[in-house]
Amino acid sequence: MRIQDLDIACIGFGPANLALAVQLHKYLDNKQNHQYKVRFLEQKNEFSWHPNMLLEGSDVQIHYLKDLVTLVDPCSYFSFVNYLKRSGRLLQFMNLKTSFPCRIEYNDYLCWAASHFTDWVEYNSKVTGIHFVEKKGKADQIYIEYTDNKEQKGIYARNVVIAAGQEPYVPQVFQSCVSNRIIHTSNFLSWLEKLPKTDFSQKVVIIGSGQSAAEVFNTLIDKYPQAKVINLMRRFGYAPADESCFNNEVFNPEFVDYFYNLPENKRSIILNNFQLTNYSAVDVDLIQTIYRKLYELKVQHQESKFYIQPHTKVVNFNIVDDGCLLEVEEIFTEVRSKIFCNYIILATGYCSTSVIQKLLKPMDAYLLKDNKDRIKVKRDYSIETTSNMRAGIYALGYAEETHGLTETLISLLPVRSAQVLESIFRRMSAANLEYYEELV
Ligand SMILES: Cc1cc2nc3c(=O)[nH]c(=O)nc-3n(C[C@H](O)[C@H](O)[C@H](O)COP(=O)(O)OP(=O)(O)OC[C@H]3O[C@@H](n4cnc5c(N)ncnc54)[C@H](O)[C@@H]3O)c2cc1C
Repeated sequence: MRIQDLDIACIGFGPANLALAVQLHKYLDNKQNHQYKVRFLEQKNEFSWHPNMLLEGSDVQIHYLKDLVTLVDPCSYFSFVNYLKRSGRLLQFMNLKTSFPCRIEYNDYLCWAASHFTDWVEYNSKVTGIHFVEKKGKADQIYIEYTDNKEQKGIYARNVVIAAGQEPYVPQVFQSCVSNRIIHTSNFLSWLEKLPKTDFSQKVVIIGSGQSAAEVFNTLIDKYPQAKVINLMRRFGYAPADESCFNNEVFNPEFVDYFYNLPENKRSIILNNFQLTNYSAVDVDLIQTIYRKLYELKVQHQESKFYIQPHTKVVNFNIVDDGCLLEVEEIFTEVRSKIFCNYIILATGYCSTSVIQKLLKPMDAYLLKDNKDRIKVKRDYSIETTSNMRAGIYALGYAEETHGLTETLISLLPVRSAQVLESIFRRMSAANLEYYEELV
């Protein structure tokens, strides 16, 4: 066996694979299991959680007990409560009387948890492709290509867990143009920090109406008071996020089973019905905060500096000398107008399909697809392949259509990690004998 052969290789070290590391840690602590070889490949040079959106005053949108581990192991060392205790803030946190920690603190919690796994993680390692290693018509191994500080490398593994997150979604109208005047919210803080002081009276257009759009708008009102900022949106106003207790049960583990077993047309009705629990919706308290700030500006006759332009879509766009020229249309009256701005901030969300497609491209011929040409993810998060491919490939965060709204979220990370590991260990013990016989 090659020295670098792994039992489990994990691609990406964000919250999803960090939760998996926490479960693995418990499993490998057991002396019988400690021989398993595991590695995480992460393209960034250190752990961070959406660093460009760690905005002052922003909160996480899940209860703090839905952390990396509590749902499956409430006594774990890696719980949020233990992190608070060790940070000396447990009592102060209680005094906040909130279930939703601020995002800066949640990132700190995740970084603290990640700091325990430095031996398992190779940072600066960007995976570029995943290949089946076929021998005599069967494949028990996967070859993972990656670049480590521009050096091309590769490792072999019997199982791969892909949790590489999503890519910023850029609407078609902006796709043909790369310009430092167009910023996605995933780069927001870096952009804000680099903005020259002389630019502090510029005109900014935010496009979108979800949580990120509202947070960026709110931040610019506070940090950029000399500017003129317009939030363009298709909606009439920010829609309040549905945090109601009955509907929140769509994020329960049992709901994933129920949802997975429904026919596709029924699943899409449910996804549609529950959109406002996650998409294009904003926390009610943030909506009220922004409304109040805009009202105060109105009192001071400053309402033309920061405002929302509803029912508006962008139909055309050009880069001009010192900025961008947008042609926009009122969706219902169909009246068109032009807006000049120095910067456009796209609060247009993320897309996961392109991420997994790029990684799996080299093994496309072995993947079974659904009628929309999408990879098929089984209930245990393994990807369906042709039957001679016996190595396990697991995808976390790419199956909202079949596994429901929790797929891209933090809510069920520990439960999902436990299910994936159970499946991997079952697969390995079934294949073990045959696998080692063939290798020697
Ligand atoms: C601003 C913001 C706030 C959010 N807040 C919440 C919230 O409050 N509650 C909630 O439930 N969800 C929230 N989400 C949803 C979010 O998807 C989850 O919080 C979480 O980040 C998902 O974890 P992940 O590990 O699947 O993906 P990610 O966090 O995106 O992590 C993926 C990791 O994979 C790495 N990677 C990508 N490609 C490669 C490659 N080719 N090779 C190696 N490494 C790679 C990336 O660098 C990254 O570190 C938020 C999302 C955003 C953008």
